[in-house]
Amino acid sequence: MAPVIETIDIDRYDPEYRAWLREAVAKVQADANRSADTHLLTVPLPSEWGIDLYLKDESTHPTGSLKHRLARSLFLYALCNGWIRPGLPVIEASSGSTAVSEAYFAKLVGVPFVAVMAKSTSRAKIELIEFQGGQCLLVDNPCEVYEAAEKLAAETGGHYMDQFTYAERATDWRGNNNIAESIFRQMEREPHPDPAWVVVTAGTGGTSATIARYIHYTGRATGVCVADPENSAFFPGWRDGDPSASTERGSRIEGIGRQRVEPSFVPGAIDRMTRVPDAAAVASIRVLERLLGRRAGGSTGTGLWAAFRIIREMRERGERGSVVGLICDPGERYVDKYYSADWLASEGLDIAPYEAELNGFLRGDPR
Ligand SMILES: *Cc1c(COP(=O)(O)O)cnc(C)c1O
Repeated sequence: MAPVIETIDIDRYDPEYRAWLREAVAKVQADANRSADTHLLTVPLPSEWGIDLYLKDESTHPTGSLKHRLARSLFLYALCNGWIRPGLPVIEASSGSTAVSEAYFAKLVGVPFVAVMAKSTSRAKIELIEFQGGQCLLVDNPCEVYEAAEKLAAETGGHYMDQFTYAERATDWRGNNNIAESIFRQMEREPHPDPAWVVVTAGTGGTSATIARYIHYTGRATGVCVADPENSAFFPGWRDGDPSASTERGSRIEGIGRQRVEPSFVPGAIDRMTRVPDAAAVASIRVLERLLGRRAGGSTGTGLWAAFRIIREMRERGERGSVVGLICDPGERYVDKYYSADWLASEGLDIAPYEAELNGFLRGDPR
């Protein structure tokens, strides 16, 4: 005789929670609907070069950096996964910019937010998080942020967002108006619509993954270059195919360069990596200010230095074409850092030789 198997139901459908969830998702969607696209700026280069440089200005998002996109994606992903619950906090390990943007979305959907960050994070960013209604928990060592965030989530019953794991999968890489689709749409009427290279930097690695996947998916020949600062594990990890690569010290360039190869970094999708000296990154944002009349953060400079190297190589090979980079966040956040002579001196950074090299290159001086 066949055994009698009892049918069991466990029904956790909660109409109150579902109504809350529906409203939370709608609020995030409405916020996206109110938002405009970011500009693709042209950087003036000598016209006889036949090479065009563009920077997508991600500093104009409501929370001032490309992390606005990530925070929106992470909130939608976590909400739709049932990971965020009314009244319970969202907690994040961050070097600052993500926390600013997540604090904004937490306030939008009405949940508390706590950022766990290294105490070296710039004062301006801490103030921006608090301005958005978030709380900051500062730890001594940047390596402690992950564990401290996880622990706090366990203690409070909240949700640890974990951008360094989920950044690459929370964003729709096939399109849906992601950063890559936007760049290629904005390039459509340019002399060289498909750039030879897109140059980005990596914090989570999410931006590079999204752009690279989109390029591969749409069958383009464009290369993806990731520029990495000093003290970052991404560069040696990628070069040596070693996911366990690590560094002793934290990155001086806020937002990018990690001491471990983050799970959200997708090395196989990347064509080229450039290790950029921190002083060269700072020199590059000085030059950018002269060219564009606006200030940007250090990660923008790191990418810009790598973009100029690619342009130099294209010149040497007599190639024409376009290169696209990013303005990741505004320089106003770093007046006491990259724009401060005292800070540069205290860090032992001499930007003069790099600035002279860049200015000479832009004048067309022989090497
Ligand atoms: C996060 C960040 C980046 C890199 O973006 P990822 O998608 O996380 O790799 C670059 N610049 C700034 C200022 C950032 O905050």
